[in-house]
Amino acid sequence: MKSDEKGFLYPIIDEEKCIDCGACRTVCQTYCDMPKLTNGQAYYKAVIRDEDILLNSQSGGMFTAISDYVLENGGVVYGAVLQGADKVIHKRAQSPEERDMMRGSKYIQSDLCDTFVNIRDDLNNGSLVLFSGTPCQCDGLKNFLNKTKTDTTKLLVVDLICHGVPSPLLWKDYVKHQERKYGGKIDKIIFRDKSFGWASHYESFWIKGKKYSCEEFKNLYCSNVCLRESCYMCKYSCLNRVGDVSIGDAWLKRGIHNHDILKGESLVIVNNAKGEKVFEMIKASINFQSVAISEYLQPQLITPPQSNDNAKQFWRVYRCFGYGYINFIFGKSGFINKVYKIIRRKIINIVSK
Ligand SMILES: Cc1cc2nc3c(=O)[nH]c(=O)nc-3n(C[C@H](O)[C@H](O)[C@H](O)COP(=O)(O)OP(=O)(O)OC[C@H]3O[C@@H](n4cnc5c(N)ncnc54)[C@H](O)[C@@H]3O)c2cc1C
Repeated sequence: MKSDEKGFLYPIIDEEKCIDCGACRTVCQTYCDMPKLTNGQAYYKAVIRDEDILLNSQSGGMFTAISDYVLENGGVVYGAVLQGADKVIHKRAQSPEERDMMRGSKYIQSDLCDTFVNIRDDLNNGSLVLFSGTPCQCDGLKNFLNKTKTDTTKLLVVDLICHGVPSPLLWKDYVKHQERKYGGKIDKIIFRDKSFGWASHYESFWIKGKKYSCEEFKNLYCSNVCLRESCYMCKYSCLNRVGDVSIGDAWLKRGIHNHDILKGESLVIVNNAKGEKVFEMIKASINFQSVAISEYLQPQLITPPQSNDNAKQFWRVYRCFGYGYINFIFGKSGFINKVYKIIRRKIINIVSK
């Protein structure tokens, strides 16, 4: 796997060694069919009972509830952790302390490293395994295990509802930019800090013990200028899920607001019998309620994110001038937005005269 100029990983085939067997195509989720929508899906909103865990989780703490069950039964957990401030990788956890490092969403593409091979080995050794990640990562894993004829009876897959993954290179530059600006190394980061309320989306970071919060990276992320190309065509942005259980934020659909929930709430989609069994086992540690999915259909469950018209210019300016400049031009309080607001105000004034 090699990074492209935006920092996204892509497979590179060594033509000298390739025997053209097509095995890579049979495991690549881009070429594989989606699993069929199961009839017996069940939908819940849920919150973990432990308030400390809830406040440190992104949504309602379902990942911890599920991974607790796996660890208590002697299993291993695979999930995304920060490596330093500027990289996200998937790691293996055997203890609650190692698992706690996976808590919270890191809004950049994680590097899976050797995760798929390690999971195959764990399953072959008879271990109970939980894998959690974006739906495309989950599907890739399932295809790989299928191709390698691995027995997946003891594998539990939890996929996240996903808006898309922004460029890891952009995030690296963001970290450098903030470190230069505030004169020190970032030693802790929260991508979406719940201390501002669950509905807000401030990133917070600590330098020399001092906390700084802003919406800079979030604004770039949410404006869809910096996602991986495949995210704009994501076939997983639907109710047809790849995990045994799917988790995300329990946002009510547009027009109905539940932003008064300050500490977070999970949407849980139980997709099959394996997921149902696990959900049954964690019920003692959560508060939950069955919901009608029609009320919780956020855009990510209906359609892929729409590419931003300015994306091409964004990457051109970024390549020429770097992060500081694109934040000035494309950020919410940046040049383009200011000009847009002035023009908009002028038009409204003219029209309303
Ligand atoms: C890139 C991204 C986009 C998302 N977009 C949406 C969205 O649009 N709507 C929505 O409802 N929910 C979204 N989520 C999911 C949501 O933010 C929570 O991660 C999810 O609800 C689990 O929260 P929790 O409280 O159960 O547990 P937490 O402890 O907060 O769960 C963390 C889980 O997220 C995984 N994770 C964290 N970062 C990454 C990463 N970079 N790549 C892969 N896995 C990761 C960890 O392995 C762990 O399983 C997104 C998550 C990510 C990572």
